[in-house]
Amino acid sequence: MLNLQQIRYCLDEMGKLFPNAHCELNHSNPFELIIAVSLSAQCTDAFVNKITKKLFEKYKTPEDYLSVSIEELQNDIRSIGLYRNKAKNIQKLCRMLIDEYDGVLPNDRDELTKFPGVGRKTANVVVSVAFGVPAIAVDTHVERVSKRLAICKWKDNVLEVEKTLMRKIPKEEWSITHHRMIFFGRYHCKAQNPQCEICPLLDLCREGKKRMKKGLN
Ligand code: SF4
Repeated sequence: MLNLQQIRYCLDEMGKLFPNAHCELNHSNPFELIIAVSLSAQCTDAFVNKITKKLFEKYKTPEDYLSVSIEELQNDIRSIGLYRNKAKNIQKLCRMLIDEYDGVLPNDRDELTKFPGVGRKTANVVVSVAFGVPAIAVDTHVERVSKRLAICKWKDNVLEVEKTLMRKIPKEEWSITHHRMIFFGRYHCKAQNPQCEICPLLDLCREGKKRMKKGLN
């Protein structure tokens, strides 16, 4: 496992590679962000942005999403995977937001996870990006990078990865680390064909060395 000094080095190098790492889901307020994140399950951010470009022109408030039939909303997002469930959850989320929160999205992760279709990862993204609350959302990229670099153990589940990262990284860096790890995993340490041969972290990375030795890169 990497020690704290080595982790520091890795995070700094990720920061140098991706100084502008940020949330790539287009949105202009917390409500749009939670809709975008809800749509992003098993889908790329770029594709979600294509859908939300039109969607956010038509639907601006929770009331707007409830003013149409479920079939109409499903039709508006039908090119996205799991669109039937996603549409149902969006309408349920809007109903709950109006009935229990006066239409105002709470800036608290535990409150957010009470909404239909909102898991811990989505809630972490929303509090972090929309409200500036320190959080580390563990998606597939954050999990893969953390494990390849031995910041976490291979057998750790998503919650264990999140807790380990929170323990090993200063709180004020949680949110930026989340973005940097996502960019690093999305564009450099990719699931298939990670760029180990030009990776500044190769010397510290057992997985990278293994892959280079096997001629996988
Ligand atoms: S050496 Fe390879 S596996 Fe390790 S962090 Fe770099 S790209 Fe990822």
